[in-house]
Amino acid sequence: MRETFLPFGLPLIGQEEIDEVVDTLKSGWITTGPKTQRFEEKFKNYIGSAHALAVNSCTAGLHLALAALGVGAGDEVITSTLTFCATANVIVHLGATPVLADIGDDLNIDPDEVKRRITPKTRGVIPVHIGGRPCKMDALLTIARENNLFVVEDAAHAVGARYKGRRIGTLSEAAAFSFYPIKNMTTAEGGMVTTNREDLAEKMRVLSLHGISKDAWKRYTDKGSWYYEVLEAGYKYNMTDLQASLGIHQLDKLEDFIKTRKRYADIFTRALKELEAIEVPSEDELTYSAWHLYAIKLNLNRLTIDRERFIEELRAENIGSSVHFIPLHRHPYYRQRWGFRAEDFPVAEEAYKRIVSLPLYPRMTEGDVEDVIAAVQRVVGKHST
Ligand SMILES: *Cc1c(COP(=O)(O)O)cnc(C)c1O
Repeated sequence: MRETFLPFGLPLIGQEEIDEVVDTLKSGWITTGPKTQRFEEKFKNYIGSAHALAVNSCTAGLHLALAALGVGAGDEVITSTLTFCATANVIVHLGATPVLADIGDDLNIDPDEVKRRITPKTRGVIPVHIGGRPCKMDALLTIARENNLFVVEDAAHAVGARYKGRRIGTLSEAAAFSFYPIKNMTTAEGGMVTTNREDLAEKMRVLSLHGISKDAWKRYTDKGSWYYEVLEAGYKYNMTDLQASLGIHQLDKLEDFIKTRKRYADIFTRALKELEAIEVPSEDELTYSAWHLYAIKLNLNRLTIDRERFIEELRAENIGSSVHFIPLHRHPYYRQRWGFRAEDFPVAEEAYKRIVSLPLYPRMTEGDVEDVIAAVQRVVGKHST
């Protein structure tokens, strides 16, 4: 057995990031400024979107996108039940009604379930690319076009992912990415929202810094002026240059990070598909996954233990793991305030009992990957029917 605990996720920060942060600290300009601008420029070029706005979280990016699209009281917005609470919380923050849809086998939102939940009040859809694997975007974009809905993607897991060769972040009205420490790249806390629409980009930029007119951050530079105007009651969602210092170099490394993730995912799949108690994640031709997560499904009829016990046994083997996610319809707030019921989400309910996310990140060594495999094999071996 492994002697030390392997955490579920860890960031990989190099000397380049450290040097850039130190340079920023010494420069005297530590909040939004030239480094944030450089990061936005690089990110936009990498994704291929017309605009990119750096913000202090993916949650902030989602909130800004919906606010810029005018979501408000009386509106309904559809999203997946299998997501992090932030995706739906921002709908509530704007006074709108969250509508949850069930998922498909790929753990992503099921376009047919979206269709079934459209009402005259529906304004848009927020697909979530779970684990970095893109949703069925053609179907979703067609449904959106036919029903005059917007699509805003929760791309928290999907930086670097592609759908039919096109990078996530270019396909819809807007996409929000997360740079939380264990996401595919990190700025400690932070996010980016991309769009191809000039009007949305401008609106989100104004809303991200108190609703103050364009380039408000420049007011303390030699190019700035003391005068500004508040155009809307905006938010405080700007990214700092300290965070952008990390982002600039993390972005340079992202392609290699994803290649390592994919290589490790392939090693997992080769070994674990031999076990009858384990269903490995499926892949398809249309998508290039960013492999943020490696989520297995337990074949519970082949095991004498449940998912909770499986995770405990992995922990006893010194392997951290997690569950992505507890479906939103199971949380007290969403159950009680919005009346969601488990019966309406049969696929998510079934998946939730079976899913386990194994550690998958570029800071792991191949030895760590082998340790995870050995631990899974031992737990399955002990508890197979
Ligand atoms: C992490 C995550 C978020 C939130 O990202 P932050 O940058 O922490 O705001 C939103 N949606 C999903 C699916 C996530 O996993």
